[in-house]
Amino acid sequence: MAAQILDGLALSKIVRANLKDRVDVLLAKGVTPRLDVLVAAHDPASLSYVKMKHTWATKAGMTGESYPVDENTTQSQLIDKIHELNANPLVHGVLIQHPLPKHLDENEALLALGSAKDVDGITPESLGRLVADLPGFRCATPMGIMTLLDHYQIPIKGKRAVVVGRSVILGKPAALMLLQKHATVTIAHSRTEDLEGLCREADILVAAVGRAEMIKGSWIKPGAVVVDAGYNRVEGRQGDVGDVEFETAKEVASWITPVPGGVGPMTVASLLSNAVTSAEASTH
Ligand code: NDP
Repeated sequence: MAAQILDGLALSKIVRANLKDRVDVLLAKGVTPRLDVLVAAHDPASLSYVKMKHTWATKAGMTGESYPVDENTTQSQLIDKIHELNANPLVHGVLIQHPLPKHLDENEALLALGSAKDVDGITPESLGRLVADLPGFRCATPMGIMTLLDHYQIPIKGKRAVVVGRSVILGKPAALMLLQKHATVTIAHSRTEDLEGLCREADILVAAVGRAEMIKGSWIKPGAVVVDAGYNRVEGRQGDVGDVEFETAKEVASWITPVPGGVGPMTVASLLSNAVTSAEASTH
């Protein structure tokens, strides 16, 4: 029997409808939730992601500015901008869209941002809070994944989870969030031996690799829950392709996210949700 769909697009609409209600309460108090973004000026993929984030924010009643960063932007200008946004009480969230132009030090930028307006949850301070189980903004993509699993009541406690990918923004925090929900977690990466065998042990398999259709249906344990965070452009194919070979995987898995329409929309919904939470906190 084919897998059931973890429908991130449908759930993101519900999350965004809830957000709109929360934004309306803030607007009535004279607060307009605002998410500002620093983005590489000449990176078409980043620009299109940021455009979508602003569009969805506007639809929810929020506002926001974009600051293009290019080869002429110096590190000190970047840091000054971040300090300025940190100090601006009208700004509730700041997103540093990865990747910035190569000559800029993103880690230094994230350290300058700190945690108060880090609605993407990727600064060292926010990640430390995640490790320490302290309150704070959680990374948008893994947060979206956890919201999706929660909505579909996927059992996590005691389950064997394998996360393929160990990036700071996705693989590592996804593993930590699954661990917090009492999964037994293994993180795999490019040096993992027998990745295929490891994946086959997973009750919950999270793909966060960036390699189109690397994970085949034959790698998946029958009845497993498969979450595909991958977004890959493949020449000659329209649209984005996941890290999992959907057509073969859906015949084996019990639940699976599609690409597009799975993790991607949940990432944006989580980011906006964090920005609204930040705006709410500013009224207390
Ligand atoms: P990174 O390139 O930062 O990390 C990729 C990870 O995959 C690394 O840990 C790497 O291992 C591992 N990896 C690479 N090749 C292999 C392999 N052959 N076998 C096992 N592991 C491998 O990518 P991101 O985490 O930023 O993104 C991953 C994917 O998720 C991309 O497709 C990206 O577009 C997508 N993405 C989607 C988002 C969404 O909203 N849906 C948001 C962010 C990203 P190692 O550490 O050893 O190099």
